[in-house]
Amino acid sequence: MIFDTHTHLNVSQFDDDAAEVIQRAGEMGVSEMAVVGFDTPTIDKSLALSSAYPQIYSIIGWHPTEAGTYTRDVEKKLQHLLTGEKVVALGEIGLDYYWMEDPKEVQEKVFRRQLAIAREMKLPFSVHMRDAIEDTYNILKTEKVHLTGGIMHSFSGDTEWMKRFLDLGLHISLSGVVTFKKAAEVHEVAQTVPLDKLLVETDAPYLTPVPYRGKRNEPGYTRFVVERIAELRGAAFEDIATQTTKNAHRLFGLINNDDRG
Ligand SMILES: [Zn+2]
Repeated sequence: MIFDTHTHLNVSQFDDDAAEVIQRAGEMGVSEMAVVGFDTPTIDKSLALSSAYPQIYSIIGWHPTEAGTYTRDVEKKLQHLLTGEKVVALGEIGLDYYWMEDPKEVQEKVFRRQLAIAREMKLPFSVHMRDAIEDTYNILKTEKVHLTGGIMHSFSGDTEWMKRFLDLGLHISLSGVVTFKKAAEVHEVAQTVPLDKLLVETDAPYLTPVPYRGKRNEPGYTRFVVERIAELRGAAFEDIATQTTKNAHRLFGLINNDDRG
């Protein structure tokens, strides 16, 4: 059993074959997944998928590249939708200085608003950061994030940064980047992250792992992420799969799932 904690089956790349992709994931050992919605259409689709499939959960929030469209109405709707039964976290939220669709101050405000909502609603959150590690850390440090916990999604910082985020009480989620030959820092993170703080994900359709790099990514490929982490740690595949799934269940409040056969 593997839990893909961050995937986007709700984007157009999966319009034609989402059902097959979900089926294939199951065949590859990916028994559960969280579909992340980041704007109105992708949030709606995430919720539709999680209500249609028992093994799919929703993570919904307002992406930093959408910060400029975050209005009071958006926030109200979000607060309402976050009460949904299959919604396990708020995200992805954070800072994106690579695309820089909106000024830093706007991104920060929207990030902090949503962190406050996560706290109020007692939901963990999923953090997206691109070219913004220091500011992201400085914001998280002042937002009592240990109260709910959260995920550093597709973490690609070094071990020093990893320790800082762990000290805030956050989880580290590794994506297909760990399978890339040149990702030395991420390899080191995979080797040293405490096993009870580790999660795995695809971020499909992006960040496709080896051996399918260059093609569309899909949730089943979380298997290759787990394989590579096991190899790097000299651990058994099953142990990494089981432990990361348990971590996801604990963080998302799905503890009973571990009792299933
Ligand atoms: Zn994402």
